[in-house]
Amino acid sequence: MDNEALVADLRRALPDGAVLTDPDLLAGYRRDEAHLVEAGTPVAVVRPRTTAHVAAAVRVAAAHRVPIVTQGARTGLAGAANAVDGSLVISTTAMDRIIAIDPPNRVAVVQPGVVNATLAAALAPHRLRFPPDPGSWESSTIGGNVATNAGGMCCVKYGVTAEHVLGLEVVLADGEVLRTGRRTPKGVAGYDLTRLFVGSEGTLGIITEITLALRPTPDESRTLVAVFDTTAAAGAAVTAIGTDGGTPSLLELLDRTHLQAIEAYRPMGLPTETAALLLACVDTGPLAAGDLARIERCCRAAGATEVYAAEDATEADALLAARRLAYPAMERAAAAAFPGGHGGVIVDDVAVPRTELAAALDGVARIAAAHDVMVGVVAHAGDGNLHPNIVVDRADPDSVARGWAVFDEIMRLCLAAGGTVTGEHGVGILKRQWLAREIGPVGLRVHRAIKDALDPHHLLNPGKVI
Ligand SMILES: Cc1cc2nc3c(=O)[nH]c(=O)nc-3n(C[C@H](O)[C@H](O)[C@H](O)COP(=O)(O)OP(=O)(O)OC[C@H]3O[C@@H](n4cnc5c(N)ncnc54)[C@H](O)[C@@H]3O)c2cc1C
Repeated sequence: MDNEALVADLRRALPDGAVLTDPDLLAGYRRDEAHLVEAGTPVAVVRPRTTAHVAAAVRVAAAHRVPIVTQGARTGLAGAANAVDGSLVISTTAMDRIIAIDPPNRVAVVQPGVVNATLAAALAPHRLRFPPDPGSWESSTIGGNVATNAGGMCCVKYGVTAEHVLGLEVVLADGEVLRTGRRTPKGVAGYDLTRLFVGSEGTLGIITEITLALRPTPDESRTLVAVFDTTAAAGAAVTAIGTDGGTPSLLELLDRTHLQAIEAYRPMGLPTETAALLLACVDTGPLAAGDLARIERCCRAAGATEVYAAEDATEADALLAARRLAYPAMERAAAAAFPGGHGGVIVDDVAVPRTELAAALDGVARIAAAHDVMVGVVAHAGDGNLHPNIVVDRADPDSVARGWAVFDEIMRLCLAAGGTVTGEHGVGILKRQWLAREIGPVGLRVHRAIKDALDPHHLLNPGKVI
């Protein structure tokens, strides 16, 4: 492969400054936030501003048969945005224009590099919002959210990203531009190509424009915390809320390991000796007090030792902020457990039917103990979506091997429970082997047929997903 010719062609096709080749800069585009996942070094990074720039870069890469890795903010947790050696990285962060906000139609049109929080701020004056709120919302891009079909804390009521995408513009592997979907709330013409690209992790095309369905800003919300002596009781409360607790707008679980990690990271008086804490919100305005009381009854009936309703929005925000600290707090706990920069966290993401949550929590604890590995679980409990965070000593091959053994056993446990190997973070490199096990040979054949049809030379994000 002739890297010089590739770079020369890119520079000819793109504006000044859009093509980066300085090795120091390239090093910054190697990987996402997934620990212990391989990453390569790109030949060049391009930072397009328009769809035409993306199409031009893709045409050049395709002509040189160079693999293309699309990156948003690189907050991904599956290695899906990791560069491969010799690739061209297309970074969308300069495609950060909110093209239109259309309040009467409750639609927004954005470029992929718009940050989730930036869009939220732009929509707020219109009393509208794009609900998906991944923990990374202050930095992750809408393009990345769409390409991973990201979730977050509000999915228990509002669903994942796919529920809020009406249409896409996509640059295909040969540089052609495809438009999918529509701007209308309804529309069933043709195959649902929009859904196909949502969650495709950069393996089928590069998303260059997104038409989003917006929701009104919710009414006043109320929040409670419930404390449990066992994770089984917390799981039972989640099942009871599913049956009889109305529709929470948030239902999150923190286990003891996470409570201790968060308290050590930012002390705020969390109960650190309890087995699990559930955090629930309702956003039904005038009905919220009654709806919260239903959730409280479910928690008490399941054996909560304490249930506490936040007094006001400030207190509720502090509780949510604590939940949002789960990941950095575990990184800090890993650093403390294995000093010298050796602590690593394998962030897992699995989902089981809500009724299996209690058994899955017990199963994860059993697996962790059997391998003598520190594992903390934080869960989007209302979705049955667990994040077992597996702490390893990167400098100790035995510790790393035990960590991966725990990871594999958790996958097996969740598949056996009728669940999935990824609830929201995606397959990337991390779960590639496990995707095949989940979808089976026929599913894999159909995936491959789609990939072959859209990317016959397998240039788009190779080694990821399938
Ligand atoms: C602290 C923290 C908390 C998190 N919390 C959550 C959470 O609650 N829920 C959740 O779902 N995830 C969460 N994540 C994971 C991550 O933030 C999401 O997957 C997010 O959607 C990734 O967006 P990004 O812009 O960083 O994309 P990147 O990481 O850059 O890319 C992710 C994938 O999307 C592809 N991609 C990006 N842009 C495009 C595009 N324009 N066209 C085609 N493909 C593209 C990439 O190739 C890659 O496969 C969290 C991560 C962190 C670090």
